[in-house]
Amino acid sequence: MAEVLPIRILGDAILRKKLKEVDLSDPALPAFIEDLIETMYERDGVGLAANQVGEDKRMFVIDPWWARDDEVQKNPIVMINPEILQKEGEQVYEEGCISLPDIYANVHRAQSIRYRYSTPDGKSVEAEAEGYEAIVIQHEYDHLNGVVFTDHLGTLAKLRVMRKLKDLEATAVDGVNIRTGYE
Ligand SMILES: [Zn+2]
Repeated sequence: MAEVLPIRILGDAILRKKLKEVDLSDPALPAFIEDLIETMYERDGVGLAANQVGEDKRMFVIDPWWARDDEVQKNPIVMINPEILQKEGEQVYEEGCISLPDIYANVHRAQSIRYRYSTPDGKSVEAEAEGYEAIVIQHEYDHLNGVVFTDHLGTLAKLRVMRKLKDLEATAVDGVNIRTGYE
């Protein structure tokens, strides 16, 4: 049975780390993938990166079109050691993040991307995404480099969320900031 993992919240040092390449032969990997997927759905996320549950691994799962109340079938895509190869255009979307509860802001990102990743069974996939799916992938990819969406905000937009960011960061204990309960 997959386990729902505690979510790391801003202020936790692992959210600011450039994560390590994943060793696909790691025997613990399949169970972790199951837990990562389960945790994303349980927290109503459309994406979740490994460091958001405390793992130093360059990987994330996405399911951009999933929503609890819709009839849309679950379709989790696990991307391991991903790379964004090309970015084009621009779009703006109001983003949020499970690791930054109650904070939302408009973020400028590329409209379309070309990217590559390994599947859990070691296949290399190259693909393109645009619109909302491209936003989700760029947001999760940022996590692998220790970047969160509020880092992209301009000065004024950042001022609006500064107090909430500082409050979150202040709740970390010894560099770890875990949320175990449910809101
Ligand atoms: Zn996030």
